[in-house]
Amino acid sequence: MKACILSIGDELMSGNTVDTNAAYLSRQLLAAGIEPVLRETVGDNRSAVAEAIVRAASRADVVLVTGGLGPTADDVTRGALADAMGTELEMDERCLADLEEFFRCRHREMVVENRVQAMIPRGAWALPNPIGTAPGLAAKIGRAGVFVMPGVPREMVEMFETGVRPALPASGRAIRQIALHTFGAGESNVFAMIRDLMSREGDVTVGTTISEGLVTVWVTSRAGTEEDAERQALEVVEPLKERLGEIVIGEGKVTMASVVGQLLRERKQTLATGESCTGGLIGELITQVSGASEYYLGGVVAYDNAVKERLLEVPAPLLAAHGAVSEAVVAAMAEGVRRKTGADWGLAVTGIAGPAGGTREKPVGLVYTALAGGGGTKVAKAIVPGDRPLIRQRAAMAAMNMVRLALAGARKG
Ligand code: ATP
Ligand code: MG
Repeated sequence: MKACILSIGDELMSGNTVDTNAAYLSRQLLAAGIEPVLRETVGDNRSAVAEAIVRAASRADVVLVTGGLGPTADDVTRGALADAMGTELEMDERCLADLEEFFRCRHREMVVENRVQAMIPRGAWALPNPIGTAPGLAAKIGRAGVFVMPGVPREMVEMFETGVRPALPASGRAIRQIALHTFGAGESNVFAMIRDLMSREGDVTVGTTISEGLVTVWVTSRAGTEEDAERQALEVVEPLKERLGEIVIGEGKVTMASVVGQLLRERKQTLATGESCTGGLIGELITQVSGASEYYLGGVVAYDNAVKERLLEVPAPLLAAHGAVSEAVVAAMAEGVRRKTGADWGLAVTGIAGPAGGTREKPVGLVYTALAGGGGTKVAKAIVPGDRPLIRQRAAMAAMNMVRLALAGARKG
């Protein structure tokens, strides 16, 4: 079973809107055992959309189209579907009644332009829109089932769940995808570690992506039943995990912050942060996780030396002797924030995010990280590549990773 996804709209073509609908639909199709083989973006042009629908229908069993169902002149998908089917639009009295009811319930006046939203190609049928005005459309072109949904993501999801998913053909195939997230090695290093396991052929394929500072290894397994797809996937995931070792932070929907949070929660321990070059980014990432107050006490953004001295109790002579970006100061920051807050762990970062401020001895990208707790203070030094936003992001991730490794190590030992 193969599927094509068409995303309609000038705003997508111009890059003003990012196409999140196609990403959502790809995931849903895969989960239903139907393989997306082509995605296309088409502007608000009736003949171009009609041609794209015809092309897609000749290639796939399922064609999912989103966008262009609105009442305005730039919404052309309805007419384009009729053209692709070689038929005409006609008024659907039931849709019209539903539409009138929609406006009546909301005490809104229905203008004559909205009537076009009740028109459907002869031979097609309407898909109810529980939360918006435009009904969706379903039709058969050759062997392909074609489903047209609104562009507004919330309405699209609702219609997919209620009207489209139940109508998808049974694929007879199950697809299981497992994501293994790693931190601490570049994509090419990860590739080098697992080269022989990265098959691109057969029922199980392995690939990598980078996002949010994590390198993710994706295992996609195809089989006749869900159990077989799962078993085949695990047969590859287990050796991958073994090979990648402690750089694996977790699977599926986890983030660095959620993993660190989970480890702290399990051990009933708390964390506090003292941040210089990351400017509060670690605190921001940690608190993206709901319930973080259970283990995150808070942090100090200590940008100026005076704040490092007063709020983190970094001794002035230390700052004078070593400078703010130094092993001695980062250790004092971590110990200071731990002492001041009473947290089990104090995490601190200081560095040079650039582009200005670098010197020969202390170049842009130099970052010191310290973790105080568990009977001592560990300090790490790194030269982080990238521009200012990347250096800050990587420094924040590396700092959280230090907590992860300390907690996971302690748990194992
Ligand atoms: P409407 O009745 O709102 O006009 P419609 O079906 O015509 O519905 P569009 O006009 O194509 O939908 O899109 C409405 C809005 O939904 C767009 O302005 C855009 O912000 C968003 N949108 C459309 N397509 C996508 C997409 N593929 N991914 C993410 N957002 C989208
Ligand atoms: Mg549009």
